[in-house]
Amino acid sequence: MTDEQRDALQAAATAQRSIKAQFQKWKRKPPKDLDERFHAAHEAAFERMDCLTCGNCCRTTSPIIRERDLDRLAKHLRVKPGALIDAHLRMDEDGDWVFRGAPCPFLDLEDNRCSVYEHRPQACREYPHTDRKHMAGILPLTARNASICPAVAEVVVQVTGGAERPQ
Ligand code: SF4
Ligand code: SF4
Repeated sequence: MTDEQRDALQAAATAQRSIKAQFQKWKRKPPKDLDERFHAAHEAAFERMDCLTCGNCCRTTSPIIRERDLDRLAKHLRVKPGALIDAHLRMDEDGDWVFRGAPCPFLDLEDNRCSVYEHRPQACREYPHTDRKHMAGILPLTARNASICPAVAEVVVQVTGGAERPQ
């Protein structure tokens, strides 16, 4: 991870209380342009962010792995889904399949590349979810991701700073 990425995480950690307070308000009454604010900040963050110098999501958390993901990955690896489960997966407290540990077994720790990139789970494709519709519905998840993903950290600092404008 670069110093800039570490600084982004630190800035969000420092502003954590005000970010959470703002998210609480938005949960009750989201501004009409909330998605647009998030999406603009997401675009700006990822224009500069190089995931290959970071890899922190794949190093520290697991995506949820749906049946379709399991089948696609197993086919690509030429193993049976059951063998993939035995080798790498566990069921979490919500009954979802996740990788058994972190870092992800498919992450190359040297260069942060995903060895199954074309066949990666849907949740990996959608991470870090700051370009989704109805951001008001995933504010707690976004607050959690701000401590993992420097891009999300930048996004939440940006959008909550912007939220001080009249709504
Ligand atoms: S499958 Fe690839 S993208 Fe998904 S967590 Fe593992 S290394 Fe990261
Ligand atoms: S999505 Fe976020 S945490 Fe994952 S590699 Fe990119 S910047 Fe890092």
